[in-house]
Amino acid sequence: MTDQPTDIVFAALKQMQANGVHLRGSLDSCERLRATASAASAAPRTVSRAPQPAAAAPASAETRSRPENAPKITFSIAPEAKGRESVAPVSKSGSSEKSAQLNALRGPVLACTKCPHLVQSRTQVVFGVGNPDADVMFVGEAPGADEDLVGEPFVGKAGQTLTKMIDAMNFRRADVYIANILKCRPNTPPGESGNRKPTHAEMDVCKPYLLRQIEIIQPKVIVALGGIAVEGLLGIDKAGIAQMRGTWKEFRGIPMMPTFHPSYLLHNPSNTEKRKVWEDMLAVLERLGHEITAKQRGYFLAK
Ligand code: SF4
Repeated sequence: MTDQPTDIVFAALKQMQANGVHLRGSLDSCERLRATASAASAAPRTVSRAPQPAAAAPASAETRSRPENAPKITFSIAPEAKGRESVAPVSKSGSSEKSAQLNALRGPVLACTKCPHLVQSRTQVVFGVGNPDADVMFVGEAPGADEDLVGEPFVGKAGQTLTKMIDAMNFRRADVYIANILKCRPNTPPGESGNRKPTHAEMDVCKPYLLRQIEIIQPKVIVALGGIAVEGLLGIDKAGIAQMRGTWKEFRGIPMMPTFHPSYLLHNPSNTEKRKVWEDMLAVLERLGHEITAKQRGYFLAK
């Protein structure tokens, strides 16, 4: 019988030798292998299994659900992954599913052509960035020129201000989720530069994408950045952000904190205005049950 691999090789070598090829050494080696293989196959087979680990104990209540006021940031992210939405946090269950759901949404959004006038002028669609399992979601109105170029929300000067704000809250950008209502940069008339505010009609067309992002992420708090974002989210005509900021609203059952757009602080950089925004962020931290240091409580207060 030549069903063993060594038998097949041996037969082939024999054939080659018959054709005049000098193969004595190879035939000897192969013969030894055949002997070893047939001895092994003749021996009774014993299957030894490593002891199986005991069935995993059911998760304790503590591991099943995170207490409301537990520190949130319990996962680590490689520095180069910071700020990318593909980051895979490890702290909360379901985050990889959320990541997969966001990725499934991303394709259609990036290819969206619902607004021909914006498709013509945009460099790319700006989807959103951050932790798919974030507790806090920052929502702005629309990408500006910098965001349109980079493909990430809040990366220009206003974005840097937002990042500082996030840092001061003891988060990293990769811990929170950042998105806009409108995913494409509002076009500007030929020859004009700067950023145009999105219209309510434009936001209404694009808003389902943001709603789906919120539905997937299920943040504990939404921070609406600026009056236009508040108007777009709540579907109201005039937000009056100066009056509305600092007071909790609700968006589809999620507590929402309206505050000034970071660009407002670029134009009004006094400590008084910064303090207003910072108090809004302190309220967010309190709502999340995060510990707030005395130093944090004192930011932008007159000495
Ligand atoms: S703004 Fe929104 S709805 Fe309009 S083309 Fe861009 S992604 Fe599509």
